[in-house]
Amino acid sequence: MNRKVNILVVDDRPEGILAVEAVLTDPTYSIVPANSGNDALKALLSGEFAVILMDVQMPILNGFDTAQIIRTREKSRDIPIIFMSAINQDEQYVYQGYSVGAVDYIMKPFDPFVLKSKVAIFVDMYRKNKLIQEQAKKLYEAEVKTYAQALDKLEIKSLRRYQYLADAIPQVVFRLLPDGQYEYFNRVWFEYTGMSPTVASGHGWKEAVHSDDLPLLLNVFQSSTEERPQDIECRLRRHDGVWRWHLLRIEAERYEDPSEVKSWLGTATDIEERRREEDRERFLSRAGELLVSSLDFTKTLGELASLAVPQIADWCSFDALGDDGSLKVMASRHAQSDLTVPASALHQRYLEAGSTDFGSKKVFTTGIPEIQHDLSADFFEGIDLDQDTLEKLRSFRMRSLLIVPMRSQGRTVGTIIFASLRPGAYLDADVRFGLELGRRVALAYENFKLFSFSQQAIEIRNDFLSIASHELNTPITSLKLQLQTTKKSLELARSGELPLDRFRKSIDASCKQVDRLINLVQVLLDVSRIQSGKFTFRFQSVSLREMVDEVLERFREVIASNNCELSLSGVEDLRVIWDKTRIEQVMINLLTNAIKYAPGKITLGFERDDGKILLYVEDKGAGIPSEKLPAIFDRFERVGNQDSVSGLGLGLYIVKQIVEGHHGKVTVSSQEGQGTKFTVSLPLDASDQEPIPDEPSQSLSH
Ligand code: ADP
Repeated sequence: MNRKVNILVVDDRPEGILAVEAVLTDPTYSIVPANSGNDALKALLSGEFAVILMDVQMPILNGFDTAQIIRTREKSRDIPIIFMSAINQDEQYVYQGYSVGAVDYIMKPFDPFVLKSKVAIFVDMYRKNKLIQEQAKKLYEAEVKTYAQALDKLEIKSLRRYQYLADAIPQVVFRLLPDGQYEYFNRVWFEYTGMSPTVASGHGWKEAVHSDDLPLLLNVFQSSTEERPQDIECRLRRHDGVWRWHLLRIEAERYEDPSEVKSWLGTATDIEERRREEDRERFLSRAGELLVSSLDFTKTLGELASLAVPQIADWCSFDALGDDGSLKVMASRHAQSDLTVPASALHQRYLEAGSTDFGSKKVFTTGIPEIQHDLSADFFEGIDLDQDTLEKLRSFRMRSLLIVPMRSQGRTVGTIIFASLRPGAYLDADVRFGLELGRRVALAYENFKLFSFSQQAIEIRNDFLSIASHELNTPITSLKLQLQTTKKSLELARSGELPLDRFRKSIDASCKQVDRLINLVQVLLDVSRIQSGKFTFRFQSVSLREMVDEVLERFREVIASNNCELSLSGVEDLRVIWDKTRIEQVMINLLTNAIKYAPGKITLGFERDDGKILLYVEDKGAGIPSEKLPAIFDRFERVGNQDSVSGLGLGLYIVKQIVEGHHGKVTVSSQEGQGTKFTVSLPLDASDQEPIPDEPSQSLSH
């Protein structure tokens, strides 16, 4: 069906327009009249026309001028114009009409048939043009559509490719909307976080970012002008609840407008190992500083434990050998500070009563570190403690453990425990770190022990010096007095005023003091011989009874003057191979001590025991406190009322050396208020015994 077309008829005379209308009666024509050139121009602005019929002769703007303006306008330049003129019928006018763009020229009065046919031709052309235009448009639209579909397909394909690629990358890859909402995460993200796409959608994915690190990440989305990729380190939660450090690199995606962020492209790389390594390095270097900064070992361990919690562990304990040779909690910390004391008490209980097949006692015994990734409830059964303690232990809910020995120069001196509330907290790299820490702490422990030992030794030596000088001074002062008396006596004797007897007495007294001095010097010489390994023995066959008689003879006077009662028991008449002088020295030292420290009833007794002789000295004195007993055989070791009784603290030390030189043993049993018994066990023939290997002169622990 033909649509209506507009035909503009321009004539200043209404009858001219009417004449045209009368001819162009086709119902598909719409005749638009215009009474002047200006009206015609106005009509052309608002409508679309197939042809213009223009009267040439018009006032103001004639047909030609109007045509000229029409031709200058973009919209109307191609509309065919047919001039109509009655007056200017000569060639000249016709030519002018064509020069301003007329396509035809009709003379008035016109032949209706000619007008009709000419208009019909232009209308037809117009319609055909229109048709062509519409078809071209349709064609264009169809093409565009096909092209867009093809593009879509291409885009989907490349998007898929991009996703496949992103999925193949071992890192997390993501793309977020400008406000940080979820747009795309690769497979690694979902595998790592255990989230479903529904949970991650919108802002849901942020649930996997540690709340402490989230503000840092959100800052990135604010910085829309930043052109370079931004790196931030933050913790991402794994599907099992474990937080691991990641490096997030985020870059804005922009297209035409560089100020507008279209999306955020990013990757997340797991840097947990690197972070741990850095943390451990930092910890070790800080530990190194702390360990050399103070000589208060327990305090230093406390600071180390505080450093480890909560960064490395939720509970940390440093256990080391105490003075009594057993493992003790030296320092411990719990992430929840009010649990530090109960946890430490519980652990101390285990150290005292728990099995050595388990935990830190096992590590201490074997020297091999232990790592537990996920402690089950029955793990604690192995600890071999009562149910109540086990329940308490379980209540701490520790899930992973790392126990390392404190070990240096082949000696284990303690253990370090790191415990975490989360499973899998410790890796193989942590074992290396733990061993290194253990080595450093053990070294510090040894140094600390050496230091306190040398402090003790200095103290003991100082004490000894003051005692020794006092001990040496006493006989020297007496000797000097005696000599002065002797000098006076000599003068008196010379003048016959003093009987010679008195003179001899003072010489005897001087000799006694010299003997005392000799004895003291002898003791000191013995100690120095022992120290330098020159304490030798001359074994010979001697009669035991003769030896005992000689000793008793020497003591007769002393015993009487000290109100003591000495009884002899079980001495046999047999021969032994000993160093006579030295074993006499043993008896003398033990008897002297009994007289000095426990005057009263004293027994010197002998027993035979499986080819050995047991020699004992027993008294009924005040006894020795049990805690002091292990030390009394050490050098310079004195117990109790030292001021009232003289002594160098060397007698029992020398006794022990002599007895051991005879391949024997000396022991002591004592009860406070009940008395003391020293027992010396000696082989009958000390000369043919295997030598006893050298022992260090003083142990570290005592
Ligand atoms: P000294 O007698 O010179 O002090 P010793 O080595 O002989 O040194 O003795 C060490 C310590 O052992 C003494 O200081 C004393 O306290 C204690 N002791 C030794 N024998 C006895 C004893 N029979 N009764 C009580 N204490 C004793």
